[in-house]
Amino acid sequence: MDSVVFIGDWVKDGILGSGSFGTVVLWKHQKTDEKLAIKTCKWGDELTVKHKERWSKEVEMLQNCNNPNIVGTKELPHEFLAGLEPINPSKLPILCMEYCSGGSLRQQLNKPESCSGLKEDQVRQILSDVGNAIQFLHQNKITHRDIKPENIVIQLLDSTGTYDFGAQCQRNIIYKLIDLGYAKEIDSKSVCASFVGTLQYLAPEILYSKTYSNSVDFWSFGLLAFEIICGTRPFLPFLAPVQWMPHVKKKSHENVCVYETFHGDIEYSDEIFSENYVSKPFKAMIEKWLRVALEWDPKLRGRDSPSKVTFNIPSEEKEVTSKIVIFNLLTDILSKKIIKVFSVATSSQHAYEIDDKTSITTLKFWIEKDTNISVQDQILISQMTYTELDANELIVKHWDENCNVMLFLYHRMYILKENIEPIVPKAVQRCLEHPKALYNFKNSQNLYRNGLYFVISQMEFYDSLVKGLFARAESLKHEKTQMLLKHNAVDKDIRELLATKEIILNMCETGKKHIEDLKEKGLGTNLLGGFDKLFKDADDLNDKSSKLQTAWSQLSVRLQSAARRSNEVLSIDLNNFIQKYNFQNIFKNVITVYIAYKKSESYNEYRVKEKQCHDIMKICYDCLKLRSKILLEIRNQPFMLKLIDLSTEFYKIADIITQAANNTEKLIKESAVVVDELNKCTWSTISLLIRDAQNLVDLPYSVVSFQKSNFKIGEAVSNHCIKMKNKIENEEELTSLIEESIKLKQNHKKLSEKICVQKRLLSKTNFDYSFLNSSE
Ligand code: ADP
Repeated sequence: MDSVVFIGDWVKDGILGSGSFGTVVLWKHQKTDEKLAIKTCKWGDELTVKHKERWSKEVEMLQNCNNPNIVGTKELPHEFLAGLEPINPSKLPILCMEYCSGGSLRQQLNKPESCSGLKEDQVRQILSDVGNAIQFLHQNKITHRDIKPENIVIQLLDSTGTYDFGAQCQRNIIYKLIDLGYAKEIDSKSVCASFVGTLQYLAPEILYSKTYSNSVDFWSFGLLAFEIICGTRPFLPFLAPVQWMPHVKKKSHENVCVYETFHGDIEYSDEIFSENYVSKPFKAMIEKWLRVALEWDPKLRGRDSPSKVTFNIPSEEKEVTSKIVIFNLLTDILSKKIIKVFSVATSSQHAYEIDDKTSITTLKFWIEKDTNISVQDQILISQMTYTELDANELIVKHWDENCNVMLFLYHRMYILKENIEPIVPKAVQRCLEHPKALYNFKNSQNLYRNGLYFVISQMEFYDSLVKGLFARAESLKHEKTQMLLKHNAVDKDIRELLATKEIILNMCETGKKHIEDLKEKGLGTNLLGGFDKLFKDADDLNDKSSKLQTAWSQLSVRLQSAARRSNEVLSIDLNNFIQKYNFQNIFKNVITVYIAYKKSESYNEYRVKEKQCHDIMKICYDCLKLRSKILLEIRNQPFMLKLIDLSTEFYKIADIITQAANNTEKLIKESAVVVDELNKCTWSTISLLIRDAQNLVDLPYSVVSFQKSNFKIGEAVSNHCIKMKNKIENEEELTSLIEESIKLKQNHKKLSEKICVQKRLLSKTNFDYSFLNSSE
């Protein structure tokens, strides 16, 4: 293969992989930059007929598989036929594939930071893609038989990636299954001896039984799923298949992993290892799925009736009535929405399965149970908008599959709780408690993996904490804007109230002066009693309005000051803190130590010797110390004090604004009533007086007559009396009429005075009473 470097415009760009039969080479077109992965068989006459058949079958099957999660084949450029002749002695078909530039899943898992598994979003993508590929093969009656991380490659899509994946089209990565070298049409028999490479992912029955079905792929898929979640295989990963199989055979349907304890005992567990990066709800769901995939009995595996007793019953004899559920179950799990919340107050991560109807209130109740922070004390802020969630919103709006933290949680009254304890993996805890302990190969590997996991999880905690503090600062700016808007709205109402207060004040002052005056003269006391109560109500109202005004102006100053403080850029302080305190050095060290450990692992003498693990222990100790230091120091940082100050201040201000708004509304209503009452009282008094005056005019006494037009208020009625001629014959009658007339005159005088006073009183108000002067 090395001998051929150029073929036409194509140049060999490296070897992608070399198995026991074939070699996969990357070829690059010098002009178009097109890349192809070309697989040729490296053997010639040594190949048996069976090998040749299998090779040709692989090429043919791959060429017929058209699925986005199975590596695509391309037409081999014609120049390669002749060009590759010297290095294709068998003359077997050449497999020309799309080049997947992201390497293999094995390479991804081999990275030190993947040693305890991949992040949940990656896990979901891999399960979805690999599941889709296997389902496609099975639908086409093909069993892959060799599903393992080495046979999954990563296609990196650029921004113009045009894979039509429906809901998945947002992705920039696609996982693809390769190597159908061992794939079989479902009915054909297979000989296990034909396998080369790792046997770790093979379903047990491939090794112990002559026949098997496509459920062998479920087993391999289950192992692969476990490994991408936990970074290690589920069943005694330090042992060879023949060694672990007898133990695994004894596992119950519920068991999803079998492992050796520190002291060498074999344990069975219903749960995956807790050192992983997936959320609690996802973990619970995938454990259910793993039970189905890792079912020992091949006839029950992947199907819907779980096996209660899986051993001692020859599986071949069982009648299979159940149906395959493994794919639908997985699709169902992957369609579930999980909302991820980082609680800044308790520095803890929480996750909940939600649906499209889950409300914020429901979420808050769940959070209360987990954090002990009451629903009322919770502040939930969306990482998308940096705003506090409204109680009426639906959570699904804030769900984002690719985000590790979708919501931040805060306590209304404090930022960070006292005594926040870290979660330390058992192996790390043990090594810190027994610094001089000796570790065998298996225990040390566990410790190094867990040590690295511990450092990464602390970095993630710190990263979430910092992001949470930043989100709080941003949300306070938003709160400030909202508060200023609310303040301005209330402020407008208060001004309206104060204007009304001024009018009432004027009306009352004038009214009071007039009434005082009348009282002094002993006039109208019986008519003006109603005004006293009104003036009292008005005084009360004015008093309340003045108090509100004073409190409001104090609040306005307070709000302005808080608003100014919230504009100060907290992120600079926060950045300075991160520059000073971070896990970068510890992370660098742990990676170096882990890589060195992995290298030493390959030396045989290392595998037998027991040794101390000081380097990783020191790193874990430093990591814990740094974490405590950060939590201690961060509390006294200016940005922290500002955050506490502002969040409590805004909370109090918001409360005062709400109270002020309510009071203002109440007082506006009350002042409208007072104005109305004053108005009514004034007018009814006027009406009363005018009616009395009118009655006087209409009196039927013929002895008294005055022309209304000539009559002036305050003038003696006698001036308008006309002597009656020849009408009165009787002297006595005349005398009584004159007496009556005098009485009337006196009454009229009093009335006139009242009207006069009232008129003066009214002339000082804003109302136009001039019509009283005009004659009809
Ligand atoms: P073999 O059957 O000899 O093991 P494979 O088909 O499994 O050969 O390929 C060997 C390695 O080559 C894979 O593990 C992968 O890393 C790489 N490889 C194969 N096909 C591609 C491809 N289309 N794009 C990128 N890398 C590939």
